[in-house]
Formats: sequence, C-alpha cells, structure tokens
Amino acid sequence: ATLPYDDQNVFAKILRGEIPATRLYEDEYALAFPDINPQSPTHILVIPKGRYVSWDDFSAKASDAEITGFVRAVGKVARDAGLVAPGYRLLANTGTDSHQEVPHLHVHIFAGRALGPLLA
Ligand code: 5GP
Repeated sequence: ATLPYDDQNVFAKILRGEIPATRLYEDEYALAFPDINPQSPTHILVIPKGRYVSWDDFSAKASDAEITGFVRAVGKVARDAGLVAPGYRLLANTGTDSHQEVPHLHVHIFAGRALGPLLA
C-alpha cells in the first residue's frame, strides 16, 4: 500500500516555489535541481510534476504522457549536463528498506567520479 500524497513534503514546496532550489531544467512534466547534500561531484534530483509518492505510485498511476515526459526529462538533464560520455548512475529509492526520505518520487543522478559498487 502506498502512503497518501503529502502536499507539505519538501519537493512539493520546491515545485510551488516555497523552498528555493536552482532550477536546472523544467518542463511540463519534470523539474531538476541539485541535491542539497551531494553524494557525488554531480548529484541532481529529477522529480515529476504530478503528485506521486514513489516509483511504485508513479509507474502504476501516471499517464503515458507523464511517464514518457518524465523519462525523457531525466535523459535530457543528464545529456545536457555532459554526463553521457563519462557516465552516470540513476537511483530511485522506494519505500522503507530503500531509505526513501522524501515522499515525492525523485530520481537521483550521480556522476563526476568513479562511483564504485552499487550498494554500500
Ligand atoms: P531519498 O533518501 O528520499 O532518496 O533522497 C532525498 C534526497 O533529497 C537526499 O539526497 C537529500 O539530500 C535531498 N534533499 C532533502 N531536502 C532537500 C531540499 O530541501 N533541497 C534539496 N535540493 N534537496 C533536498
């Protein structure tokens, strides 16, 4: 079962402009901004504009247009940041065991150094 969406989560506030964030990319479906506590030299978060708690919620409930728009936005953000040649890692924590902290779907983009093994 997915938690109900909480309009007071920090990424909802960033979407509404109530908390500042550097808007690296924005379109109808997605917003990208730097992570406030970067875990790699480049650490960007990409979020859908819709009210989706998690990857599970989004993949089950979002429209085809939202899913396509969001996936294309994640790729474009990485491409436009010059990350394709050096390489990058995507990660979307979902639920308790994953340590998801913010209950609005976000895809992390990690890059800028050799990232090492997947799980720490
Ligand atoms: P999670 O653990 O949910 O996958 O990741 C949440 C991420 O959001 C963390 O990497 C954390 O640093 C980032 N974060 C939390 N609050 C803020 C904020 O107010 N602004 C930005 N830019 N990032 C945030």
